[in-house]
Amino acid sequence: MEEDTELQQHLAALAASGQQALTREERLKRQRSLDALGAPSFAATCRDRGVAPLRRSAARIFQLNIGLYCNQACSHCHVESSPRRTAEQASRATVDRCLELLAGATAGTRGSADAITTLDITGGAPELNENFRYLVERAAPLGVEIINRCNLTVLLEPGQEDLVDFLARHKVRVVASLPCYSEGNVDAQRGRGVFERSIAGLHLLNAAGYGVDGSGLQLDLVYNPGGAFLAPAQSKLEAAYKSELGSAYGISFSRLLALNNMPIKRFADWLAKRGKLQEYMGLLVNGFNPAAGESLMCRDTVSVRWDGTLYDCDFNQQLDMALTHLGMGAGAGPAIDGAVGGAGGGGASSRPLTIWDISSLDELTGRPIRVDNHCFGCTAGSGSSCQGAVA
Ligand code: SF4
Ligand code: SF4
Repeated sequence: MEEDTELQQHLAALAASGQQALTREERLKRQRSLDALGAPSFAATCRDRGVAPLRRSAARIFQLNIGLYCNQACSHCHVESSPRRTAEQASRATVDRCLELLAGATAGTRGSADAITTLDITGGAPELNENFRYLVERAAPLGVEIINRCNLTVLLEPGQEDLVDFLARHKVRVVASLPCYSEGNVDAQRGRGVFERSIAGLHLLNAAGYGVDGSGLQLDLVYNPGGAFLAPAQSKLEAAYKSELGSAYGISFSRLLALNNMPIKRFADWLAKRGKLQEYMGLLVNGFNPAAGESLMCRDTVSVRWDGTLYDCDFNQQLDMALTHLGMGAGAGPAIDGAVGGAGGGGASSRPLTIWDISSLDELTGRPIRVDNHCFGCTAGSGSSCQGAVA
């Protein structure tokens, strides 16, 4: 109940102040916490700890955030999704341009070196975008792995009765959120009744062969902590998930991906309301792992917003830290801890770069990555990325 009230207050603040103002305020709170800890910037920390320069290499993963509409409104959502976000949806034109860029970057068109291997479709609830199935049907023949980031409950939404069969037919890899194997913890983070419906969704996926050995249909689950602590060791947690979900519900799955909570958006608000933001930032800074810095997902991921704007990652996308027209090319300046809304990694007047401004994904290779104080979430402990732990 307390979490529901907080979420309503947060959504009301969002409506009153606007996304950009809240994002700016949130960044300042993170920075004040770091200053109080005497922590250096993320870029300086990477440099001082011997991490390779923060520059983009050839893109391997093309991640499209197809829209922010979601049938849920989870308390830790880093993209601020909810059933109210109906306007921010990728159009057919955006999807078609993504397909063109993808087609020019796959192993089939350019050989295996530096080719895109994966189309990662996220949201919101991506399946509820009217162009989701159009995208999957046209991307499948390109020979890339297709990931659908699924919240499980969407499988039970009216009109989605054939969704599991559709995903299986196109061999889409399902990466599904289930932050715990206990009902109480899941419902606290994702809303009342979500655990029960998630289990029902998993049963539908297992019945179609997802997560079943030998089926060729991959089903991964995503864990994120239920509070202000880092994700535990991924392999140990996977064993516990497999044992608990198998014995209690007869559910099987392929792999568990353990993610840290990023100190942004609703989770940042959740921390600040409890006076825990500084403590959490301290945990991230003290847990800095140089090996995770080498494997940051932003090195080889290109992230695309519903409107076609380009980013280094989905977190930067939610913080309005777009790639920009200024500083194009491998010779551009160093990675900069950048302020929200364009200042920092390219200048306040920099125009965001979009999928229509580039003729090939190669144009992004060598650019400095736009890092800032939230990036400590990716390098703490075993590291964290959309593919789980990285170190
Ligand atoms: S299901 Fe995912 S996208 Fe939807 S509100 Fe929850 S965390 Fe956000
Ligand atoms: S949050 Fe920062 S470190 Fe993490 S993937 Fe994005 S740009 Fe890279």
